[in-house]
Amino acid sequence: MKIAVLGAGITGLASAHYLARHHQVTVFEARQRAGGNIWTETLAGCRVEWGTNGFLDSSPPTLELVAELGLDPRLLPADRAAANRFVWRDGRLRALPRKPQGFLISDCLPLGARLRALAEPFIRSRSADDESVFDFARRRLGRGAAEILVDGMVTGVFAGDPQRLSLASAFPKLQALEANYGSLVRGARGRGFGPSGHLTSFDDGLQVLIEALVQQLDVRLGTSVDKISDLTADGFDQVLCTVPAARAADLVPAPLAELLRRIPSAPVAVVALVFDSAAPIPKAFGFLAPHNQGLNILGALCDSFIFPGRAPADRHLVRVLIGGRRQPDLVNFDDNRLLEIALTNLERAWGPLPSLVAHGIVRHRLGIAQYERGHADLLRAISSQCPANLRLAGSSYRGVALNACIQDARSWSP
Ligand SMILES: Cc1cc2nc3c(=O)[nH]c(=O)nc-3n(C[C@H](O)[C@H](O)[C@H](O)COP(=O)(O)OP(=O)(O)OC[C@H]3O[C@@H](n4cnc5c(N)ncnc54)[C@H](O)[C@@H]3O)c2cc1C
Repeated sequence: MKIAVLGAGITGLASAHYLARHHQVTVFEARQRAGGNIWTETLAGCRVEWGTNGFLDSSPPTLELVAELGLDPRLLPADRAAANRFVWRDGRLRALPRKPQGFLISDCLPLGARLRALAEPFIRSRSADDESVFDFARRRLGRGAAEILVDGMVTGVFAGDPQRLSLASAFPKLQALEANYGSLVRGARGRGFGPSGHLTSFDDGLQVLIEALVQQLDVRLGTSVDKISDLTADGFDQVLCTVPAARAADLVPAPLAELLRRIPSAPVAVVALVFDSAAPIPKAFGFLAPHNQGLNILGALCDSFIFPGRAPADRHLVRVLIGGRRQPDLVNFDDNRLLEIALTNLERAWGPLPSLVAHGIVRHRLGIAQYERGHADLLRAISSQCPANLRLAGSSYRGVALNACIQDARSWSP
């Protein structure tokens, strides 16, 4: 069978890798580079991830793909320092507990909110119709935990709005904990609430995975597809479209186009800052900035402490994420204003900063797909309108993380 794959992001490339075992596959990519949201570059001697930072080493499809490509020796686990994480609350940074037992003595929440969260195992479970992440968190953990910890988590994964995101579509594992154990705490006992696995990348950044995939595929860079029907007219039997839903909407006729346009996304600007390391910065993963706590960034990542070798010894590499679903307009600010926002917020959190050596800014206009309330119904409607020779895949539909994209890629065989 002759198959066209649209988009050379991780979903398109991984899909093409699997499909090429049995079919003739061509990948069409609008930009002059492959990788989509995965994009590693060098800035003032530092390896910068302009998009995806890493993946958790707990997903078999990703690990199998890495092994098939012979990349095992190049895997790079995050440093132990990356276990130090902070949240900004009431005007200063608070350490997040490394283990659930540490929650009681941590000051990540005020005492009243901590005690309320500890009552979680005694809250009766109740299934609500496509409940928002915020409503679920407030019901089970209380308003304080919902507004600070859960807001921070949602910001970190989706750059999203917990009041709009669907628990069932965005965080199905949390929903399953309540359904199966009647409580998050009971369900997570011994395993913790967060996703399992260790944050991982490659010695030279995630671009290593992209380059290894591209090498063995027929990828046409700088080739934007305008209509799916052009590809079928060119003799392709099947089209796999992995571009973001808002772009896919431009390639198909109504009513499918209207349905695809209803999947929103959160734009994100990434400001990379290279500092002189003569003065210290916190040896940590970074910090989260919940929406109602007075910073106007999503958070900051101390890259030179997360993965060894990202920066030379005389440099610190930090990335600040700005924008998201609740402050999308910030992404349109010019570079000077984005730089100023990044530095001002870091200074509030850390105090005086080391001297800045270099900076760079990348805007992801379609950033991260948002699985908001009604997402599951929307997917059903989209699937009923999708012609038999078209499959839609990628981060707009069934999981935004790199691991989910690879799993989605592996699940289709025409
Ligand atoms: C700033 C940021 C940080 C992130 N951090 C993490 C992280 O640390 N861990 C994690 O697991 N996930 C992270 N994610 C999410 C993850 O990166 C993405 O969900 C994933 O990379 C999406 O891959 P994709 O292939 O589905 O889509 P994309 O990467 O968006 O690729 C789609 C491709 O389609 C191309 N295209 C668009 N229109 C056309 C057309 N008409 N014709 C041809 N080609 C076209 C685009 O140019 C693009 O290359 C992050 C995302 C962002 C934005």
